[in-house]
Amino acid sequence: MRRIAVLTSGGDAPGMNAAIRAVVRSADARGVDVYGVRKGYQGLIDGEVSHLSARSVSGILHLGGTVLGSARCDAFRTPEGRALAVKRLQLHKIEALVVIGGDGSFRGADALSVESDIAVVGIPGTIDNDISGCDFTLGFDTAVNTALDAIDRIRDTAASHQRAFFIEVMGRSSGWIALFSAIAGGATEVLLPEQPTDIEALQTRINDAFDMGKQYCLVVVAEGHELGGAFAVAAACGETITGNHRVTALGHIQRGGPPSMRDRMLAARLGDAAVTALLDGQNRVMVGEVDREVVRTPLERSWSVVDPMPQDLLDLMDRLAR
Ligand code: ATP
Repeated sequence: MRRIAVLTSGGDAPGMNAAIRAVVRSADARGVDVYGVRKGYQGLIDGEVSHLSARSVSGILHLGGTVLGSARCDAFRTPEGRALAVKRLQLHKIEALVVIGGDGSFRGADALSVESDIAVVGIPGTIDNDISGCDFTLGFDTAVNTALDAIDRIRDTAASHQRAFFIEVMGRSSGWIALFSAIAGGATEVLLPEQPTDIEALQTRINDAFDMGKQYCLVVVAEGHELGGAFAVAAACGETITGNHRVTALGHIQRGGPPSMRDRMLAARLGDAAVTALLDGQNRVMVGEVDREVVRTPLERSWSVVDPMPQDLLDLMDRLAR
């Protein structure tokens, strides 16, 4: 294999740049040329493809977001759109594509590979951690650390005023950020998209917390919770909870910022592993870390299987929140 391309797709995540750098440097070390595609699949269809040298990816390792840009692209959902993308790759004599993104991006990559002779390898890059075949996705660790920084600050004011705080974190259909933020942030309760909520039980739990002598009460709510986020949950709890309460939605601050050590290490390993997989003749696989080992998972599994939230961590949350 002489020539490959790399793109980032879907929501940006800290560590994407470190992964781009790792792909380029690892390929360069093995005599493979890398082309960068700007703005995801849209840029591929539009022909925004240019050569990336080992030097051209200097100084991006520590940056959040993605220097290649990302975009949602409806045209790529159609065979006609993907045929245009394949033509662009063939024009540059590109034999394989590394896709850094989430499950939607992997669906698209899978379809492209089935319909052409372009090999594809995926690197899981999304703050949501909702991809099967890896312990953690790129960006998740940084996003949780950012949420924790905010939660620690909110705790200061919550404790000073003996208040309950409803804190909304990202996660439209996945509760991973919420669960990890809640455990590591010392929350009293966590509300996930994956679980129904008994509002009366929640009210009781908050009031019991104050009755037991807690000085504050933090409730972490995933944005995709069935009631519609932290403001809706707080409204549903109404005046029945002790003292006055406040609501904070952390929003997009969770998506940006420099990647953590864990995300940089993951990006380095997976970028390198993606190139190795292609040189080994692999196609339609995702590289991910499981128990500190790099493993290859069929791409189809990564987007078709939804791993359940880990019961041991749900139980841990329950035991520690008292
Ligand atoms: P995130 O988890 O951060 O949202 P994602 O990769 O799941 O990332 P999506 O917006 O779902 O983000 O997908 C990114 C792009 O992948 C879409 O804009 C579209 O171009 C392509 N894509 C998504 N689903 C499909 C599909 N079923 N078939 C072909 N292409 C798809």
